[in-house]
Amino acid sequence: MPEKRDYYEVLGVQRGASEDEIKKAYRKLAKQYHPDVNPDDKTAEAKFKEVGEAYEVLSDPQKKSRYDQFGHAGVDPSYGAGGGAGFGGFSGGFGFEDLGDIFDSFFGGGFGGSTRTRNPNAPIKGADIRINMPLEFMEAVKGVKKTISISRQQTCHTCHGSGAAEGTSPETCSECGGSGQVKVSQRTPFGVVQSARACSRCGGKGTVIKDPCKTCGGKGRVRASKTLEVSVPAGIDDGQSFVLRGEGDHGLNNGPAGDCVVTVSVRPDPIFERDGFDIWCEIPLTYAQAALGDEIVVPTVDGKVSYNVPEGTQPGVVFRLRNKGVPYINGRGRGDQYVRVLLEVPRNLSGKQKEALKTFDNLVSDKNYEKRKTFFDKIKNAMGI
Ligand SMILES: [Zn+2]
Ligand SMILES: [Zn+2]
Repeated sequence: MPEKRDYYEVLGVQRGASEDEIKKAYRKLAKQYHPDVNPDDKTAEAKFKEVGEAYEVLSDPQKKSRYDQFGHAGVDPSYGAGGGAGFGGFSGGFGFEDLGDIFDSFFGGGFGGSTRTRNPNAPIKGADIRINMPLEFMEAVKGVKKTISISRQQTCHTCHGSGAAEGTSPETCSECGGSGQVKVSQRTPFGVVQSARACSRCGGKGTVIKDPCKTCGGKGRVRASKTLEVSVPAGIDDGQSFVLRGEGDHGLNNGPAGDCVVTVSVRPDPIFERDGFDIWCEIPLTYAQAALGDEIVVPTVDGKVSYNVPEGTQPGVVFRLRNKGVPYINGRGRGDQYVRVLLEVPRNLSGKQKEALKTFDNLVSDKNYEKRKTFFDKIKNAMGI
């Protein structure tokens, strides 16, 4: 959807302009850009619509307040959501008697129709569909192939999208002779205005289906499910999406298909935790292992690796295993793994074990407990004991 201009800018008024100023600005511009005054000027027609749209919002206190707060998104739900609703968000009701009829004649009754600008036979892109895919932690890290089933609008096989029953085809509309439009004359303050209106018999298509296709009921598309083989890229993270181009709803009038957007939700792992492309885990060591050092086994996403914990390792120390993290999605290389050391103090000691620890404790000195020594030195200095 093209970027919309600010409505105040469109009408050339300041934010905070009075109701009257807005109305005056609108009347002036509506006359200036009126299609009847500029019959062959497409720019004028677009400006005229833009001005009408701006006024429709700024003249309605409720809509104006939503627009002032949230901008275009506050008054047009399709705006910014990728929808192509055109003027679908507008319901007419200009509160402006003189020009009301003219708007009706040009837009088929309030801005709801927009039949004059949109060709009903133009190709329409199919809508995107969205699905959620649960993944195991390791599937997200390594990538995985999955078979999924999606439900979408597909071109009807029986009529190949025409909507007409087998062996028949849509017929030229007798009301409009196939043009899809009928001419309407109307008296207005500017004189008699000739305008084209969508043909009500064929809805502007120029053709009618006498005998609708039984499979799709004349719609040209049917809801059907399709099985897809999907390659989930390695490195994808919880909440991220990838796109299967052209796997959304099929288009209308030979328009292209939409996309299927797959969002993944990754189940947490009992050992590993992700932080972007790095992986964290915690490993509990015994008191003796931390004091003496040890060769320990560390789990990684590639399997077990051995790691030499140095003598005197303190609790909370984090060591890093380079390139043992998650592969960068859509790129080369990967993150690291961080292993945080936990120290478990032994419990439920037997008498013999307690004796051994006491014997050990009698053998240690300040030299073995640097932090403890510093701590008590500080207390001595502070309290003079
Ligand atoms: Zn059909
Ligand atoms: Zn017709």
